[in-house]
This record gives sequence, C-alpha cells and structure tokens, in this order.
Amino acid sequence: MDLIHEGKAKRVLQDPDSPERVIIEFTDTVTAGDGDKKEDFTGKGTIACEMSKYLFKYLEGKGIDTHFVKKLEENQLLCKKAEIIPIEVVCRNIAAGSFCRRYGIEKGIELTQPLIEFFVKDDKLHDPLITTGAIIKLGLAEREDLDFMRSVALSVNYFLEELFKQRNLILVDFKLEFGRTEKGHIVVADEISPDIMRIWDSKATSLDKDIFREDKGDLVATYTQVFEEMKKAKPDEVEPRTESIQVIVETKSGIKNPPGEVAKKALTRLGFADVEEVRMGKVFKIVLRKPITSEILTQLSIMNVKLLSNPISEKHKVRLE
Ligand code: UDP
Repeated sequence: MDLIHEGKAKRVLQDPDSPERVIIEFTDTVTAGDGDKKEDFTGKGTIACEMSKYLFKYLEGKGIDTHFVKKLEENQLLCKKAEIIPIEVVCRNIAAGSFCRRYGIEKGIELTQPLIEFFVKDDKLHDPLITTGAIIKLGLAEREDLDFMRSVALSVNYFLEELFKQRNLILVDFKLEFGRTEKGHIVVADEISPDIMRIWDSKATSLDKDIFREDKGDLVATYTQVFEEMKKAKPDEVEPRTESIQVIVETKSGIKNPPGEVAKKALTRLGFADVEEVRMGKVFKIVLRKPITSEILTQLSIMNVKLLSNPISEKHKVRLE
C-alpha cells in the first residue's frame, strides 16, 4: 500500500481498492510539545483507533459528516480521502493548556460559553493561534468555511459533552481537523480520541494525553478505562441539536430598490445628510433539526434561489448563527 502521509501518531495509506478512500493507521507513538516529547506505548494505537471509530459512528448518527467509512484491522480505519484544511479548530469548555499559559489564568475555570479558536497547522511555527481575518487574507480558508467549521465544532462539542456527562466525564477541550472530500464536502477528519481532547473525571483527574504530558500515570490503561466508561453511555438519550441559519436576501446593485430610496429620503429629512444609499432586503431564519453539513448547505442554496429570492434581481448569503 502506498504511503500518502506520515504524521506524528498516524500513517495515511492509499486504499488499493478505491482512489477515493484512504486507510488511516494509528501508531503507538504519543507526542507532545510539537513532538519534542515522544514515546511509544504498546496498545495506544489500537485503543485510539477503537475510540475514534466509536465516536465517529456516534457523531455520524447525530448527523455530523465525518471521513469515517469503516474499521479494518485493529489499528486501521477506512476513510474518505480528504484534503486537510491547514487549520486546527479547538473548542474549549474549561480553561486548560495553552489557554491558561496565554492568558495567565488558573486551570479549571469554566468558560461562560464554549469557545472556538483557530490555530495554524504547522509544527515548525509551533501551531500559532490565528485570527479569522488572517486566515482569510492569507487564503488559508474562506469565511464561509470557517463559519461552517465553527458550527460543526460546536455541534461536536454538544454531542460529546452530552454523551460523556451521562458517565460523569467532563469534556474540557478538544481539537478537530477538517478535510475537503473529492466531492468538495467539508468533513470532520483525523481522529477523535483522548490524544486530541482533555477529559476529566468529577475530581478533575486527567483521563487523556495530559497523563503523558505531565508524566502522571499509565496512558493505555487510562484510555481503556475511559473508553469502557464511554461505551456505557446511551447515545439515543442525547437530544438532537438544532441549527439556526440566516438567509439574507439583497437586491443586486444596479437594480432599483424603491423601499430603500424612501428610507434614504426619511433619513435625510431627519438630518442624516451623509447617507449615500439605503437598500432594503429580507432575512429568513431557518431552524434545522440537525447539524449543518456541506450537503445541506448546497440544498439550501438551491432552495434559496428557487423559493426565497429572485435570482434575476436579488442575491443571497447564508449565515450560520
Ligand atoms: N491539541 C491537539 N493537537 C495540537 C494542539 C492541541 O490535539 O496540535 C488538543 C489538546 O490535546 C487539547 C486541545 O487541543 O485537548 C487544546 O490544546 P491547547 O491549545 O491547550 O494546547 P496544549 O496544552 O496541547 O499545548
């Protein structure tokens, strides 16, 4: 099998049976601090693979698009081939790790809302935090893609948190990677295991890679214990998550907009002399019963053109809330 990519903890191989599929092989290697700290633990690859399979299947069941197809050997997953977007998406519920170091705050402080942060996927630069403005202006990803990834990360956070809560496990933070499939769909890629997330028990004891980062226990035994606990949760009892979408319809420039002209006259009468132009549009709020996927966005786009806007005189934008 041809090796496509060799990462720090995984190998990506070409599936010999399909050009659109890859085989992700989980190794026993664990790294921290951009690979400065590195060690092999027998069985780590197998347990991270098992857990990724379990959680990918769970998330797929909740309507989230992932690259997962099926499990092969004990440490291999068959996945859709996807070009990885070079941005790491971190979601945090509780302050820990680099967030505490950056802002000089105590580990364990609960955030008022889940926080999404973007980091550049580049070990040589030590994966720096990056603003959405810089991502767009450097051409690393488009605004719509960032909005989409943020929304999916928040859904993943909701579904994982709710599942873990059933077993008194606390989801502190996690990192997702996204890839674009051959069909152009953005899907959750990489892995979902304690290698990429922080999980605490009710006494804030780490059940994740912090065991290795801070040399405080048996990594494989803890991953196995947390997985056994996770499997006792009941996915069917996790409520669906709704998604709010705004469709903003505007008249195209050059097309007359009489309500806007009336509003402009009224504003001028009120003394706002510097108003150059006013255009009135429409906003539709659509609440979906499940998380957003690339496919739903495409369907929405077709629906918008057909039902919500007049494609000759109007243009529309979709905003995820
Ligand atoms: N994370 C990861 N890969 C990275 C950076 C972070 O999987 O390259 C995960 C990490 O395990 C944690 C979350 O993302 O669950 C937030 O990590 P943080 O930014 O706090 O960085 P760290 O403490 O790893 O330096």
